[in-house]
Amino acid sequence: MSQDKEPGDIGPQEPHDDHAALTRRRFLQGCGVAAGILAAGVIPAVAGELTGSAAAVPGAGTALAAEPPAKGDAVLDYIIEADGSVNYPGHTVSYAPPVGDEKWAMVIDVKACVGCRKCVYACVKENNIGRNSGFTYIQVLEMEPGSMDLERADTHYPEGGSPDRWYMPVQCMHCAKPTCVYGCPVKATWKDPDGIVLVDYSKCIACRNCMVTCPYFARHFNWVDPYVPKAEVNPRVPLEEKRSVVEKCTFCVQRVRNGATTACTEACPVGARTFGDLNDPNSAVSELIRTRRVFRMKEELGTEPMIWYVG
Ligand code: SF4
Ligand code: SF4
Ligand code: SF4
Repeated sequence: MSQDKEPGDIGPQEPHDDHAALTRRRFLQGCGVAAGILAAGVIPAVAGELTGSAAAVPGAGTALAAEPPAKGDAVLDYIIEADGSVNYPGHTVSYAPPVGDEKWAMVIDVKACVGCRKCVYACVKENNIGRNSGFTYIQVLEMEPGSMDLERADTHYPEGGSPDRWYMPVQCMHCAKPTCVYGCPVKATWKDPDGIVLVDYSKCIACRNCMVTCPYFARHFNWVDPYVPKAEVNPRVPLEEKRSVVEKCTFCVQRVRNGATTACTEACPVGARTFGDLNDPNSAVSELIRTRRVFRMKEELGTEPMIWYVG
């Protein structure tokens, strides 16, 4: 594969066809219940319940320990830095810590989405996703009008999308109860108090357990050294650190903790994405969740995703 591809030309979403088919099938399994719920429009959301459930996450945030513990789980706590101010300890790139009492969330309007994949391309550029890595953080599912059969959804539809189809973008849900975090044996991934689930690339041991325990198949392993043309490297986001480890959507932590919205939200030409603070009852996300019929993907699993769909 050429390493001089255009930024938007991200290649296949998985490195091998067989693997792509398997991954797609596994991802789509279990989506039917949520899709049926969407079709029926039967879940009126209660914003108070939603924010309450997010706040109740066990183990949310970085576990800290001031002194070296003697044994057991406390050893794992200790290897996560005590100041909590740098998400990539010892590395040149660092992100700002959570600034207030925000609880970040996103609402995606599937009726508005036109399948253009502009969010996908913006995310690739913003987050230094290797142009040779063979994955993207966002997958956009294409379906027939009137169909809710996510098993038959196409993630490799032709460029630009079609007015004869409908689209459903999927990425890391930043679950309030993140099974990926619970599945990491070395605490290389965690959920911060503002709801963002992050990965410390320097601590990831590449066991890929989180890829198995994530029910949304939102995590991706770098089988190759991620390559980004020099002129396109975003200095605010790690690149070399992501070599041979797992990565995923970060809710654009480098942007949202500095007053900007996510790159995918900014890039969407039809305003299908709304990002904001669930703890602010006047935010656009709170308003949408309170007033529209929404659903969350695979809600029956109890992961409490922080992405809601409306349509
Ligand atoms: Fe973790 Fe997967 Fe939930 Fe993201 S979607 S927080 S990777 S379990
Ligand atoms: Fe990519 Fe940021 Fe959107 Fe996540 S929030 S999918 S990292 S652009
Ligand atoms: Fe849908 Fe907006 Fe993404 Fe285009 S940019 S695929 S309209 S969410």
